[in-house]
Amino acid sequence: MMRDMPVARTAAAVAFALTTAVAQAEAPYAFATTQGKLPKDVVPLQYSAHLMPDVAGNSFRGTQTVEIEVLKTTSTIMLNADNLDIDSAKLSGKDIGKLTLTPILDKAGQTLRFDLARPLAPGKYALDLAFTGQINREARGLFYVNYKAAGADKKLIATTMAPTDARRMLPSWDEPAFRARFKLTVDVPDNFTAYSTTPIEKREPLAKGMQRVTFGNTPKMPSYLVVLVAGEMERVTAKQDGVEIGVVTTEGKGASTAFPLQASRDLLRYYNHYFGIPYPLPKLDQIAIPGGFNGAMENWGAVVYNEPTLLYDPKKSPERVKKFTFNINAHELAHQWFGNLVTMAWWDNLWLNEGFASWMAAKATQHFHPEWRPYLDDIAEREYVMNLDARKTTHPIQAPIDNEEQAAAAFDAITYSKGQAFLRMLEAYLGEDDFRKGIRAYMAKHQYSNTTSADLWAALEKASGKPVEKVASDWTTQPGFPLITVEQACAEGKRRITLSQEQYRLDEPAVEKRLWNVPLQIGTVNGKAWTTLLSGASTTITQASCEGALVIDPYSVGYFRVHYDPASFHALAEQAPRLPDSTRLRLLADSWSLVLAGRMQLDGYLDLARRYGNEPRPAVWEALLSHLRTVSTLMRGEPEQAMIRRFFINLARPKLTALGWDEKPGESSEDAQLRGMLATSLARAGDLDAIAQGKARFARYLEDPSSVPPSLIDFVTLTAGRYADAATYDALSTRAAAAHNSEERNRFGRALTSAEDPKLAARTLQMLLSPQTPPDLVPYILSGVSTEHLDQTWTFAVANRDALLNNMEALGRHALFASIVAGSANPVHADMIETYMRKNFGPDGVVEAERAANGVRIRAAQKARLLPQVRAALQ
Ligand SMILES: [Zn+2]
Repeated sequence: MMRDMPVARTAAAVAFALTTAVAQAEAPYAFATTQGKLPKDVVPLQYSAHLMPDVAGNSFRGTQTVEIEVLKTTSTIMLNADNLDIDSAKLSGKDIGKLTLTPILDKAGQTLRFDLARPLAPGKYALDLAFTGQINREARGLFYVNYKAAGADKKLIATTMAPTDARRMLPSWDEPAFRARFKLTVDVPDNFTAYSTTPIEKREPLAKGMQRVTFGNTPKMPSYLVVLVAGEMERVTAKQDGVEIGVVTTEGKGASTAFPLQASRDLLRYYNHYFGIPYPLPKLDQIAIPGGFNGAMENWGAVVYNEPTLLYDPKKSPERVKKFTFNINAHELAHQWFGNLVTMAWWDNLWLNEGFASWMAAKATQHFHPEWRPYLDDIAEREYVMNLDARKTTHPIQAPIDNEEQAAAAFDAITYSKGQAFLRMLEAYLGEDDFRKGIRAYMAKHQYSNTTSADLWAALEKASGKPVEKVASDWTTQPGFPLITVEQACAEGKRRITLSQEQYRLDEPAVEKRLWNVPLQIGTVNGKAWTTLLSGASTTITQASCEGALVIDPYSVGYFRVHYDPASFHALAEQAPRLPDSTRLRLLADSWSLVLAGRMQLDGYLDLARRYGNEPRPAVWEALLSHLRTVSTLMRGEPEQAMIRRFFINLARPKLTALGWDEKPGESSEDAQLRGMLATSLARAGDLDAIAQGKARFARYLEDPSSVPPSLIDFVTLTAGRYADAATYDALSTRAAAAHNSEERNRFGRALTSAEDPKLAARTLQMLLSPQTPPDLVPYILSGVSTEHLDQTWTFAVANRDALLNNMEALGRHALFASIVAGSANPVHADMIETYMRKNFGPDGVVEAERAANGVRIRAAQKARLLPQVRAALQ
């Protein structure tokens, strides 16, 4: 699953951090000992469900027969149900005839229980249920999406079940270890097409313009992967390795389907080979729905994407969208094996699913599009998560999950990005071939079953002969990561390198003295690198020669920070522009992190940054821009902000001038991207020429949209939005309402939320109260406006609390108010959010508030430290 949320759903984060007990070594998977709420003595084997949605009425009726097996004599059958009414329940089987059961629904526990008058003996039985439920406005279980096609109002239905919402559509054993087969039948309008895991087996016309669609039976699978989509959809197909691949969209999206279809074929072929097991279903549908749902969900055989995470129109979309959609596609298809064919036993191993899919996506992208340099791009993700992981409010990758809220909250940056970064470091340590050998053995051994991390470590350990379990547990069960301090000395032609580790923190030193087994590569610039395992607090290594500048982690695969002694740092810094890409980026990123942590002065970082003025790689510029933007944001409202902006303009302006304002025939796609990126940042920093260019081009765009190439479309709309007057704001609003697809709508929407004029910001905030605003967009709009108008957004949110919360999805509610202060460096805001949330929200909201307040206080301390440093360096 990919959830692209501005509001981190991390309610459980602090609870994790407070768990001081060191996690015990994990056991391999066993069904009986897997965590969960449901008793393990009754298991489902086969669900046969018939759903009758009333699409107009937002409700459905359902009937279902579940073949169950009683493993141990029991008087209770317990499964999950949430927001369902049970109309009837019967149990039949040999020796018991047909019993009518009384449903006992536990709303808080989300369970459905039947107490039997006499114990059931082990054996097979059939449970017949009739039930009714709702088609939800928010994307949980079965939900609806209203959209427009060719000016007409349309509606479709879709599902998203992870982690615990299958129980909102089917009474089910809704925990990942209870694998079963699912056979679905659904009655839908006859102008709909319908999609699920398997191909359609039978279609029968019904009265009143309806049809009955029956899908084939599925393999044994967990309930969170169950899927149903139905609407007026179009489908293009291609065959790959005997599998029919379909790209499914609402009407009028044909120009955007060729790229994802080809990408899906390539990825299927690549994964068939990588995992060593062919994709196990006869078809694979890639379904793009027009909003109402964030990100993408890897439902087996029918992946559901929010449109802009799958579709790419080569004539209209920027290259960024091409890279982004390929990466999400690669992530979801990796799950078809890792996650779907082999599933984590319980949500505490969610990182294994998500970290792996993210890691695999980068690898597949590198294979097909090395020119995109995905590993450089991924370093930005790693930097982001390392900044979260360096605070006292972080949590280990693997953390206990005791309830539904914690399962939902586990889909956070630590799970995805730290998981991914750790696997990349581990693969580099084991070697690509041994790592893949281990993955293939793991897939073969555990297919159609579940696992824990221990099963993966065992397979990798066997394939590589290296101590995987020992290394991995340091990284998965401890929060945070080390700072590696490097000192070197040359004596008698030999280099002595001393490497020491301590936990890297941004707020306060950790109480526990944590150490890691750190797989680490040591090399020299453009020389060979070799791998070592750093254990303990300090190690000294001797090299036969002192030649070449020393580089720690030259390929930037390590999840740690590197702090060189001054001489080693200068040896690298002075040749910065000539360093290999990954070394150059790491040097910049580590230096910046040392500034943030108070271990390096800002002028040292700025001296380094000045050497990056002719930088060719967008990913390195992205890092530089983000560092300088952070300083600028910290200096907000102070005269020092103008100084740092001037520094940035002086650095970036010559590069943009060299690139020119217009695309050149035959230029690289990196140059085209850089132009848009630098122009956007320069306009944001107040560069008058960039602002004028953006405004003039937007005026031309309104006359003729084809006058702006895709590579500049983000720059033009964002700059128009940021510096909008009322007329420009109106033009953007009109375009957003008439947008042909979600990508376009989101682009205009982002422009609207970035307006600097407080009167226009007030208009954007009002949109949050409109029932026309899709619930999944509420957090984006709120956090977007708060970036420039924090106090105004706060006042608005407090005044309209109930209306706001009612108009958004349930899952982000605890974090919504905290997200408003997410960029603040004013300690008053830290107290404000804590006081407000304690008074108005429950414990989960308070956890979010404490996290946000911690962030504000960290930034306040950074601001106090950096203000005089900015003056000293730039006045
Ligand atoms: Zn995922």
